[in-house]
Amino acid sequence: MKFTKILSIVLAIMMLFTFVSCGSGSTDAKDTDTETAVDTSADTAADTEGDNEATDTIVMATNAAFPPYEFYEGENIVGIDAEIAAAIAAKLGKTLVIEDMEFSSIITAVQSGSVDFGMAGMTITEDRLLEVDFSSSYANGVQVVIVKEGSAITTVDDLFAEGATYKVGVQLGTTGDSYASGDFGTDRVTQYATGNEAVLALAGGDVDCVIIDNEPAKAYVAANEGLIILESTYADEDYAICVQKGNSELLAQIDAAILELTADGTIDGIVAKYIK
Ligand code: GLN
Repeated sequence: MKFTKILSIVLAIMMLFTFVSCGSGSTDAKDTDTETAVDTSADTAADTEGDNEATDTIVMATNAAFPPYEFYEGENIVGIDAEIAAAIAAKLGKTLVIEDMEFSSIITAVQSGSVDFGMAGMTITEDRLLEVDFSSSYANGVQVVIVKEGSAITTVDDLFAEGATYKVGVQLGTTGDSYASGDFGTDRVTQYATGNEAVLALAGGDVDCVIIDNEPAKAYVAANEGLIILESTYADEDYAICVQKGNSELLAQIDAAILELTADGTIDGIVAKYIK
């Protein structure tokens, strides 16, 4: 039967992909350049007869070690950002391709044009606005402090106390990194490639606390016994999508899509799926 044949070809291709990915151990976030394609074009393909826009791809750079915004579920990158990006791509009639890389490489990738946009729970900051353009914000972030249960650090103010020498772990290139380095000096701050590595360093006693975004903090605390998040918060921020400076056409398309996806409740629905 024709259908069976197609099915077995599809299965064979899927198995091949599984093999290739297993061989490279690609679920480790440290492996850069992992690509995941998300076909969002099915809904829009029918009305684009005669042009091949629906088969075009749009490439997003992320760091898939930031749950619940982007993380691996098996071989796939899923999460709030991945789903919002897929919804935006669908509106543009494109197939979304996600490229996984170090967080600190995303802006360079966007600047060089090797990817179309960056989306990684990325905070809009003055410094980054000199390097890339940001869309309107689609989510709020909060920088929080994770400590070990029973830590002498009980509020954020303790970190600022006269003579305090507490060591702070951060994820390289994040706002947590730049704020902490500014507030406490680089001697007190240790940078890790991922939030997970920073949290493991805290659990192992190499640092006294980790400053990181609230939602991944919750995921890390849930996954590691003996850690808590301080009630007092360190900073409030806005997450947005970044594009190459001056790419006003793509920025306008993304902003229009965010507006529509906010108005029709799609973004709220995606957030509610991942944040209970
Ligand atoms: N919101 C933080 C920042 O933009 C952290 C983002 C991340 O680690 N993915 O720097």
